Amino acid sequence: MLQLSGVDVRYGQIQAVHSIDLKVDAGQLVTILGANGAGKSSTLRTIAGLVRPSAGEIRLDGVQIDGLPPERIARLGLSFVPEGRGILTTLTVEENLRVAAIGARATSDFDGRRDDVFKVFPVLGERRKALAGLLSGGEQQQLALGRAMIHKARLLLLDEPSLGLAPLLRDLVFAQIVRLRDQGATVVLVEQDARRALAIADWAFVLNGGRKVLDLPASEALSSYRELEAAYMGSARH
Ligand code: ATP
Repeated sequence: MLQLSGVDVRYGQIQAVHSIDLKVDAGQLVTILGANGAGKSSTLRTIAGLVRPSAGEIRLDGVQIDGLPPERIARLGLSFVPEGRGILTTLTVEENLRVAAIGARATSDFDGRRDDVFKVFPVLGERRKALAGLLSGGEQQQLALGRAMIHKARLLLLDEPSLGLAPLLRDLVFAQIVRLRDQGATVVLVEQDARRALAIADWAFVLNGGRKVLDLPASEALSSYRELEAAYMGSARH
């Protein structure tokens, strides 16, 4: 479904990603692991069209998407939930969901889709008229996932969705990610809690210094996690 071939990402003089090849099959949940600065976010941002690769090619269902503007890529069924959530702080919860639907041209049956989001994240229903900027961090994270759910994206790119959440909310977010996959979405997950990401993932890619160093089933990565962590995950956050 998603294929990156020889993708380079540069920010001026800095090369963040070096000739990366990734393949994600439809319906898979894959995780991209690596230490801080390994190039995980840059890879997601490049797939979403926010950064243009300086070399290589990205295909979604065989269609070349590198070079397309992010809104065109979103309309092809991709939803990107950035680190820091990417919600619109001056709009209400409900308006955020509506804008997500409009952005993806998925406005038919908006009410039903919105109610599905409220069923999964009841606090969003309770606070539907509140300005998103006034929500707690955990509530904002739920809204960010709700925005991704609303257009029933076929491909979800999630950058650190559990960052800064209390344990119960993390459980909710992980359960929801699994649920979205079970409903047929393909998910690419970057997650600080690498062990937990591997526990729900089918496949893992490990980046180091902007290069892909491992490409293996998540179960294998999990069973050799200590070695993997020592070699590639740095310390503090992973
Ligand atoms: P983290 O786990 O800390 O989020 P990451 O694996 O997601 O790290 P990236 O954020 O992709 O890594 O960063 C990869 C490299 O690119 C780092 O050296 C970073 O400093 C650099 N970088 C990222 N964004 C920019 C930018 N906008 N301008 C310049 N350099 C950048």
